Amino acid sequence: MTTLSAPSQAIPGSTTSAQIVSVAMTEASDAVLREHLLRADGQEDLCLATYAPSTGSRRWTALLREFVEPKPGERTVHRNVSFTGAYVLRAATQAAAAGLGVAILHSHPRGRGWQNMSPGDADAEQSYAHLCEEITGLPLLGMTLAGVDQAWSARTWTSTGTPVWAESVRVDGGQLRVSWNDGLRPPPQGQDTQQRTISAWGPGIQADLARLRILVVGVGSVGLDVAVRLAAAGVQHLAVMDPDLVERRNLDRLIGATRRDAANCRPKVDVAVRLVRAAATAEHTDTVGYRMSICDPSAHTIALDYDVIFSCVDRPWPRAVLNSLAYTDLIPVLDGGIGIDAFDDGTGMRNATVRTHVLRPGRPCMVCNKQLDPALVQIDRQGLLADPRYIAAADRGIQVGTENVALLSPNVSTGLLNQFVSLTAAPGGETEPGPLRFSLSTHALEHLPYCSSPSCYVERTVAAGDARPQLTETPGRRRSA
Ligand SMILES: [Zn+2]
Ligand SMILES: [Zn+2]
Repeated sequence: MTTLSAPSQAIPGSTTSAQIVSVAMTEASDAVLREHLLRADGQEDLCLATYAPSTGSRRWTALLREFVEPKPGERTVHRNVSFTGAYVLRAATQAAAAGLGVAILHSHPRGRGWQNMSPGDADAEQSYAHLCEEITGLPLLGMTLAGVDQAWSARTWTSTGTPVWAESVRVDGGQLRVSWNDGLRPPPQGQDTQQRTISAWGPGIQADLARLRILVVGVGSVGLDVAVRLAAAGVQHLAVMDPDLVERRNLDRLIGATRRDAANCRPKVDVAVRLVRAAATAEHTDTVGYRMSICDPSAHTIALDYDVIFSCVDRPWPRAVLNSLAYTDLIPVLDGGIGIDAFDDGTGMRNATVRTHVLRPGRPCMVCNKQLDPALVQIDRQGLLADPRYIAAADRGIQVGTENVALLSPNVSTGLLNQFVSLTAAPGGETEPGPLRFSLSTHALEHLPYCSSPSCYVERTVAAGDARPQLTETPGRRRSA
């Protein structure tokens, strides 16, 4: 890759202060870019794109937005592709008008895995780093696509022209495809305690899965079970988030919590961290407990550091926050719940239904799949939802029940973990299945017909990043907890 013309002068600007850099895109963006960059004639190609920043607590992610297709003459393919300063200027102007940054992407048709830059690549990107940052206020992003295995690699450029390598590039789709920078995040060594896990899907999938940064929001019966099993499967970077304390009434379903935990009013996250550490099989683990609500802006910022989030909360407001985050920040959210339908007179049980779904662009959000009522979110946000059954939501087919008995809650964790394995390991080439419903009375599992809706107010915000709608609120300003 070489440049045909030098950019005009540039002045140094500021860049991100987060320690980790990452890139994410939807599978639709990945398909458009691959179509352009991987040519039938086997030559290298190049294009520009825009991106939105998503600023977490420790990680800064560039979310790819629009492909800026080259006009005739703006780039020339001749084994090594070259491009003009006018093309970069046009993309930077378009990006700046939308509050976005610029990405320069090119292909290495015979490359496999994470790619290094050739001196020509580095010169070309470095020469535009100042210009792009001056115009957009955001660092230039450089990306390479390897033709053999379609792995991405990425770096940002500081205003002084130094590359900062990304840790990973994530393609948010039916299968979560992550290209890892092995230099920054080496694949973990398989352990003898993991033999039967690794033999289920092979060392390659295990290495990808074990490196994911996973956050479990809500560590009640379901979240605790999910977190412990992820740790046992070898996931290295696991965090749990929950503002609540263990109470005696939790002990019928919080497996592993003790009477002493309840007597000492121990935070649920402390109990979860203890159980996760005891179950972990990875050689190096990093387990963190956040005693916070995801509705708190600082907790939301922390959530942006993760690759996959499990939503194991039952209240409407936290679920709405996670529902939005899955689209705005391209972090797949696995959500589920159980609804237990008892006869009103207490004479028995009619049914129990378990719903699970992966929230991501291309799949319906929780409003569209009828799992979240925006009116209840408002009531919860105002602190008026003393009991999730405040409104007879069951009439509208929305599960907000608090019943969650120990014998049935594993159905939800099983459903969520099945969705997770489909999302990461794609057994038989089948990716995540869309919304599912299990009905206990008939023991039937159904695929639900809900579809993604482009006009939905949640699904319209794909890759908004830091320009996302604000659904969180600082705790002191809430009317009630
Ligand atoms: Zn190159
Ligand atoms: Zn929707």
